[in-house]
Amino acid sequence: MKKWKFGVYLRLSADEKGKDNEQSNSVVNQRKIIEYYLNDKKDITIFKCYVDDGYTGTDFNRPGYKEMLNDIETKKINGVIVKDLSRLGRNYIQVGNFIDKIVPSYKLRFISVNDNVDSLNNPRLMDSLEIPFKNLINENYSKDSSIKLRTALSASKKAGNFIGKYAPYGYIKDEKDCHKIIVDPDAAAVVKRIFELVLRGKSKQEIKEELNNNHILTPSIYMRDRIGAEVCNPRTKWTVYMLDAILTNETYIGTLVQGKRTRLNHKAHNFVRVAEGEWVVFKNHHDAIIREDIFYQVQNILYNRNVKANKNGSYHTYSGFLKCSDCGKSLYRITRTKRGKLQAFYYCSTYLKTKQCSKHHITERKLDNIVLNAINQYIELICDIDKHIDEIVSYSRIDYNEEVKKIKIIEINKQISQYENLLSDLIKDYQNDIISQEDFEEFKNDYLYETNKLKQEKEKIESSKFTQNNLDWIKKFKHQKKFTDINRSIINEFIDNIYVGDKDEVEISFLYKDQYEDALKYLKSKNNMV
Ligand SMILES: [Zn+2]
Repeated sequence: MKKWKFGVYLRLSADEKGKDNEQSNSVVNQRKIIEYYLNDKKDITIFKCYVDDGYTGTDFNRPGYKEMLNDIETKKINGVIVKDLSRLGRNYIQVGNFIDKIVPSYKLRFISVNDNVDSLNNPRLMDSLEIPFKNLINENYSKDSSIKLRTALSASKKAGNFIGKYAPYGYIKDEKDCHKIIVDPDAAAVVKRIFELVLRGKSKQEIKEELNNNHILTPSIYMRDRIGAEVCNPRTKWTVYMLDAILTNETYIGTLVQGKRTRLNHKAHNFVRVAEGEWVVFKNHHDAIIREDIFYQVQNILYNRNVKANKNGSYHTYSGFLKCSDCGKSLYRITRTKRGKLQAFYYCSTYLKTKQCSKHHITERKLDNIVLNAINQYIELICDIDKHIDEIVSYSRIDYNEEVKKIKIIEINKQISQYENLLSDLIKDYQNDIISQEDFEEFKNDYLYETNKLKQEKEKIESSKFTQNNLDWIKKFKHQKKFTDINRSIINEFIDNIYVGDKDEVEISFLYKDQYEDALKYLKSKNNMV
């Protein structure tokens, strides 16, 4: 039988002194309980008692505890016994660290009498969440119910069940299945309107005013009056904060995200943020209100760009879109009045600040002309291929998405075999002493890396599912007439970025460029028409 040399850890906190439970928790009493418990354990001898009398449990800055830790490290003891976990401490992380790290790494035997834990007899119990949680819970509360509730909740969350009390604004709970949510047409119309206003180039300030002027109910008032939700202090006016909450909420593209916040236990009223990687995310969980491409376009417009509203609360036409083609930083807008007319110019912001880049100067008028022309040409180009695609798809009834997928895979396979040929040539050259070992290693790694990347890309394409017809984007262009002047909503709708070079060179990166290229490849493979 293995012999265990135990440390007995006893603690009475300052705030327990003079209270009713002082007697039951007193150091003497703790010791009695432990000795009684160890009475029939013939394999355990007590090496020493470590006492912290009058120390708080919220940290480990206690002499008794430190001494015990030292004796653990120097292997004077190989076991620790406490009356209950709260003796060890009241700080979840630190006590958890003792249980999860110190106990296993020193192969300690750990006993907590009142918690019925003996790591030798029941090591599995040590792993369970129960131990750190028990430590947190006030003795007046039922210890176990909170833990059970918490694990039940996360199991249900993991199964993709919606567990909120009320569905998010825009949805209602399904009467047939309370874990499902369905679209609420009235609120969904407001959500759609908000996204559309962003696409039309409105700032959040302007959208807020428009909703308030039209007496659209705020989400909290709507939830209270229409859904019957209990809402304390509902806001009667729309705010930018409410708009942000809606415009960034993935619920509207059909994704269920739960577990962003959690409570450590039932006693804690504060929610703590959960790391993003641990959120429970379900795609295509319910019907979308906003199309995915539109949602991401809006994220791009509002949150990924450095967009600043002007004094009137609206945006300049190009705000957030113009970049210097050399340093990549935004261009800065400067206005001046010349012969009674307002003129606007752009300069590279790096140039203005530090002169470490060149001017990249362009007038707004010139820019308007160039961008207007380019957009009109782009639309023409896409309408042109659209005709061809329409003919082929309707004639042969092929599934466009599947075809594009096939074409992409064929192309990738070609590239993979090119790299494989290069690699086999490389090996031959090395064997024939044509290249050095250094070169061989370098190129070999390169080729393997590229091959791997292509293979991953191929897997991604093969497993991708299209949630909507991949030709939907073309509809945007189909009935589009030529634009006669430029405004922010056109920029939002068609342009990703505009790069300005040094001599009035403007390079435009368009949205839907990838889709356009896919369509071109498709046409080439079908007909060699383009
Ligand atoms: Zn620059």
